[in-house]
Amino acid sequence: MEIQTSLKHDILTKAFQELYPNKIRPKLNLEYSNRFSHYNGNVKFEKFGREITSLTFSLSKKFKDCEEEIQIGVIQELLNKVYKTKIQTSNQSLYSSFVRHLTNYTKKGESHHLLKELFEELKKEYFNDSIDEPTLRFGKRSFRILGNYNYVKDTITISSIFLDEDNLPLERDFIKYVLYHELLHKKHKFRKANFNNMHHTKEFREDEKKYFDGDIESKIKLFLGKRRLREELDVFSKVKNTLKKFF
Ligand SMILES: [Zn+2]
Repeated sequence: MEIQTSLKHDILTKAFQELYPNKIRPKLNLEYSNRFSHYNGNVKFEKFGREITSLTFSLSKKFKDCEEEIQIGVIQELLNKVYKTKIQTSNQSLYSSFVRHLTNYTKKGESHHLLKELFEELKKEYFNDSIDEPTLRFGKRSFRILGNYNYVKDTITISSIFLDEDNLPLERDFIKYVLYHELLHKKHKFRKANFNNMHHTKEFREDEKKYFDGDIESKIKLFLGKRRLREELDVFSKVKNTLKKFF
């Protein structure tokens, strides 16, 4: 309880100080509320004469599990409204990039059985049995994006490039490694870092190196190279077959 209160105080003070270092700080309160169905929030204020004497922020309960930076971002958005300013901070950018993913927010979906199985293994081997299962699915056949973790939907998507034409796994180990990488995103979430490498922080990279097979990334690259080559050959032989019909 004690910790909660001081954490809230910290978030509020940081948000305010960064925007208005020279302004006298009014009394600041923060509550998490069930009233909001989405990632929403509002602010109420009291005035004495022209001076704002207290601000009470209500944020959706969902923000409680969000990184401090995102919470600071939403509070700063609200502060800008109250004081009619337009000051932008990196926390606000973080918050708005987070919110941009909300439009396609959906309920927890059905997970793929193979990914579930691999998740259970990884959970025991690398996460001390203490990471919640996100929604796990295969997505488009992409050579470029092998995996993705969506923070808001809590969903990991793995490229179907690792599956054959009948949707059977070609290389279980490769899928497992990509899944491991994405689970690390779930574990580390947004961390304090400069904006560009907030996803792959030093701590993230250190965890990544703990994977038992140090050569796995070059093996995957080799696999992708061969796969690309085969696809090109496939296209080529299709063309040849078509030609045969004509000649
Ligand atoms: Zn990544």
